[in-house]
Amino acid sequence: MALIVQKYGGTSVGSVERIEKVAERVATLKEAGNDVVVVVSAMSGETNRLMELATSIMPQPNPRELDVVLSTGEQVTIGLLCMALIKRGCAAKSYTGSQVRFRTDSTHTKARIEHIEDERIRADLADGRVVVVAGFQGVDKDGNITTLGRGGSDTSAVALAAALKADECQILTDVDGVYTSDPRIVPKARRLDKITFEEMLEMASLGSKVLQIRSVEFAGKYNVPLRVLSSFEDGEGTLITYDEDTNVEQALISGIAAKRDEAQITLSGVPDSPGVAYQILGPVSDMNIEVDMIVQNVGADGLTDFTFTVGRSDLDKAMSCLQERIETCGNCEITSNDSIAKVSLVGVGMRSHAGIASKMFKTLSDEGINIQLISTSEIKISVVIDEKYVELANRALHDAFGLDQVPD
Ligand code: ADP
Ligand code: ASP
Ligand code: MG
Repeated sequence: MALIVQKYGGTSVGSVERIEKVAERVATLKEAGNDVVVVVSAMSGETNRLMELATSIMPQPNPRELDVVLSTGEQVTIGLLCMALIKRGCAAKSYTGSQVRFRTDSTHTKARIEHIEDERIRADLADGRVVVVAGFQGVDKDGNITTLGRGGSDTSAVALAAALKADECQILTDVDGVYTSDPRIVPKARRLDKITFEEMLEMASLGSKVLQIRSVEFAGKYNVPLRVLSSFEDGEGTLITYDEDTNVEQALISGIAAKRDEAQITLSGVPDSPGVAYQILGPVSDMNIEVDMIVQNVGADGLTDFTFTVGRSDLDKAMSCLQERIETCGNCEITSNDSIAKVSLVGVGMRSHAGIASKMFKTLSDEGINIQLISTSEIKISVVIDEKYVELANRALHDAFGLDQVPD
């Protein structure tokens, strides 16, 4: 007998018929003698619908009230799934995030989980019930409802699995595992049997939304066995593993990730003097805007260009923040571009191999794709390109690195 935490995403609970299918699967797992805790997302499209309702009243919604609205989507799904289980003779009980007490900090819309009170869940499991928990939501120390950021149900599931010391955390979704690239963009993408935490962390942070980045961080930190599986068909899925040497394919590149929701800001003619980077980025970070890539060119005549990227939804905020402080950069000109995309190669094999970057750049140049920014780490190379080339770049790189072939 094992304790399994399963998470079903929006598409997997997107209709009453699909919820019934999920109930069938959960009931079978329970009947096989396992303790089962299920975390669910809102039905597909529901969180977007709630977001539109909120922004139709207030374009920049009040964050506390936005969380009150957004968290309702998951509450519908937990109730419906429990009904479908009870109808099948499978005892089940639902909890919202605040009922369990998923304690978070107070950063509305991107709260971080601090502590999970698991007593009620353990008591229900001991009584033979399946426990169904609303993903994506928590409660702060003052009782305010919080949410964990888009895709946050993955993190709810992994955090719960860590708190309960579950034998496995299974993320059930509309693909049957983690692929070498988003299978919707690259039809030839191949499912990986295993991927290391480190690589999965890079893939998630560089745009592969199959797992929310914080869920991978949690799984790595608390050593939660994590598997991505299809909710529609049986299969082994993809295991996220620590074991870099013996179990994982000996590939140079494990995958390609793409991210479209970034924007680029350039300050041209900035004084090339100490402290300028801080003067530009300090106010941006004070506004809680995350900066991603940063490039400062070699200066001439005491002036230089400074470019950085932010999330596209933060672009207006970042631009007005910089415009208010323009005096700090003399007569510099500030421009922005919100039709960029970042494409990244990820692989632990890069550590020991040179030449990957040049092959990447040649492949893109053969396709006539201009590279605007480059950033590298030990296990990834990212380039910023025009958004309209993101699919072409993805497919060309997938072919060039032979990612559809199982490595020897
Ligand atoms: P859920 O609603 O179940 O949380 P998501 O839409 O958040 O599902 O994540 C699943 C989607 O992630 C897939 O449909 C796929 O298009 C996308 N995806 C992006 N990169 C990858 C990848 N490398 N492997 C598998 N899926 C990926
Ligand atoms: N329902 C939320 C979203 O759409 C959380 C999730 O699905 O993980 O982002
Ligand atoms: Mg998701």
